[in-house]
Amino acid sequence: MAKIIDGKVISAAVKEEVAKEVAELKAQGIIPGLAVIIVGDDPASRVYVNNKKKACEQLGMLSREYTMPAETTEEELLSLIKELNTDPEINGILCQLPLPSHLNEELVINTIIPEKDVDAFHPHNVGKIMIGNYDFLPCTPAGIMEMLKYENIDITGKECVVIGRSNIVGKPMSMLLLHKNGTVTVCHSRTKNLKEVCLRADILVAAVGRANFVTADMVKEGAVVIDVGINRLENGKLCGDVNFAEVEPKASYITPVPGGVGPMTIATLMKNTLTAAKKQNGAK
Ligand code: NAD
Repeated sequence: MAKIIDGKVISAAVKEEVAKEVAELKAQGIIPGLAVIIVGDDPASRVYVNNKKKACEQLGMLSREYTMPAETTEEELLSLIKELNTDPEINGILCQLPLPSHLNEELVINTIIPEKDVDAFHPHNVGKIMIGNYDFLPCTPAGIMEMLKYENIDITGKECVVIGRSNIVGKPMSMLLLHKNGTVTVCHSRTKNLKEVCLRADILVAAVGRANFVTADMVKEGAVVIDVGINRLENGKLCGDVNFAEVEPKASYITPVPGGVGPMTIATLMKNTLTAAKKQNGAK
C-alpha cells in the first residue's frame, strides 16, 4: 500500500512559512501584492483565480483581480499589464491561461516584466531555470519538488519519467528533476513505447490531461507516482491522470486528486509573490 502524499498538509506548512515572512515584511511597511487577470468566463479558470485570491488574503497579501470580458482586445490586455508592470503596490502579475483564441498568449507572457512574472513563464525566467540559477520556479513543478523533499524522497540517480512536455508542467518538471540529479526521460503524445518507458520509473510524473491514463501495468512496484492531471468526469467529479484505485497498491508513494499537487501549485505562487516583493523592495 502506498503512502499518500497529502498536498493539503504540505501546502499548509509552506503557507505558514510564507505568512510568517509576510508579517515580518509588513512590520517594515511592505505588503506583497499579486494581480490576477482573468479574461473570459472559463469556469475552471474562475475556480483557480478564486483559490489564488483566497490564499493571498489568508496570508495577509494584497490581492487584486482584473476580470475582463472574453472580447477584450490585445491592446486593452497589454495596456493593463504595462500599467501593472510599473504599479508599486503590485509585485506579482499573472494572467490566467488559457486565453480566448484571438489573444496571443506568448505576447501576453512576454509583456509581464520578468521581475513580476510569478508564474515563471517569461523566456528570461525559463532560461534561468534551464541554467539552474533562478528567482522564481514554475508553480506546479516546484510544488511537486517540495512534496518530494517533504517526504524525504531522494532523487539522485533515480529513473524519473515525466509524461507530458508542456511549457507549464512537463518541460520545467524534467529540468527540476535533472537539477536534483535524476535520470530523466520525457514522454509525450508521439512516444512509441510509453508503457515500457514508464515501467522503468522510480519516480513517475503524469501531466497529460486524460482521466485515468496511467494504469497499473505501466507502473513499477514501489514507484513514486505524482499525478498532476485535473480532469472533470461526466458525473462532475474531479479525477487525475492516474487510475488511483489500480496504481495505489503498487506504488510506494502517490498523490491524490484532488488534494495532491493542486494545493501545492497555489502555495508556490504565494512563495513566488513573497520572493518578488522582497527583491523589489531590497528586503532579505
Ligand atoms: P498540455 O495539454 O499542455 O500537455 C499535455 C501533454 O501530454 C502534452 O505534452 C502531450 O504531448 C502529452 N500527451 C498527450 N497525449 C499523450 C499520450 N497519449 N501519451 C503520452 N503523452 C501524451 O497540458 P498541461 O498544461 O501540461 O496539463 C496537464 C494536466 O495537468 C491537465 O490535466 C491540467 O489540468 C493539469 N494541471 C494541473 C495543475 C495543478 O496545479 N495540479 C497545474 C497545471 C496543469
